[in-house]
Amino acid sequence: MPAHILVVEDEAAIADTIAYALKTEGFEASHVELGEAALAGVQGGAFNLVILDVGLPDISGFEVCRRLRTFSDIPVIMLTARSEEVDRIVGLEIGADDYVVKPFSPRELVARVRVILRRLDRPPTEGSVPAFQVDEAKHRILFKGKALDLTRYEFRLLMTMLAHPDQVFTRTQLLERVWAEAEESGDRTVDTHIKTLRAKLRAVEAEADPIQTHRGLGYSIGRS
Ligand code: CA
Repeated sequence: MPAHILVVEDEAAIADTIAYALKTEGFEASHVELGEAALAGVQGGAFNLVILDVGLPDISGFEVCRRLRTFSDIPVIMLTARSEEVDRIVGLEIGADDYVVKPFSPRELVARVRVILRRLDRPPTEGSVPAFQVDEAKHRILFKGKALDLTRYEFRLLMTMLAHPDQVFTRTQLLERVWAEAEESGDRTVDTHIKTLRAKLRAVEAEADPIQTHRGLGYSIGRS
């Protein structure tokens, strides 16, 4: 079944161009002009990815993305008219997966769609980050062959990042996935746990630092 992409864009010419490029490449595409319609569409659940313009007539794309993230993990690519807006996309942790700046090439946009969907398709395979081995049955993770002594949240944090190597997780995304039901989570929660996690990895191998910090964005674990 082809992936179904929701295009949220009030300029008909741009929306048509995107929809055409997507369909040419074998995707299904639907188009709405308003942020509220986008939220309703995603709530309906039929879409695999959202292409979201920042400048919409009713509510801004930033706000749409922020609200989306309260109920959905759906990948979002933001369209921005000005490169200054990029700082807000990467800085505000609104939870977008990628962005393109107008004017953009429809082919490039479709290529990004493909990359993101492929990333999601990939099952969390064991050994995809060779330094780590996950023993699900025993609820433990080995690093360089040595079992790590992890707290519940450190375990879940590491599992989340290992399941998607090279994917940058924002603090908000990690909070939602790892601390979903916790009451005592706050702004510093993710950073604090990353710090203790790093210390435990260094205790295994002093030079080891598999967790990457992406300034203003979040964290990832690299494949190598
Ligand atoms: Ca617009």
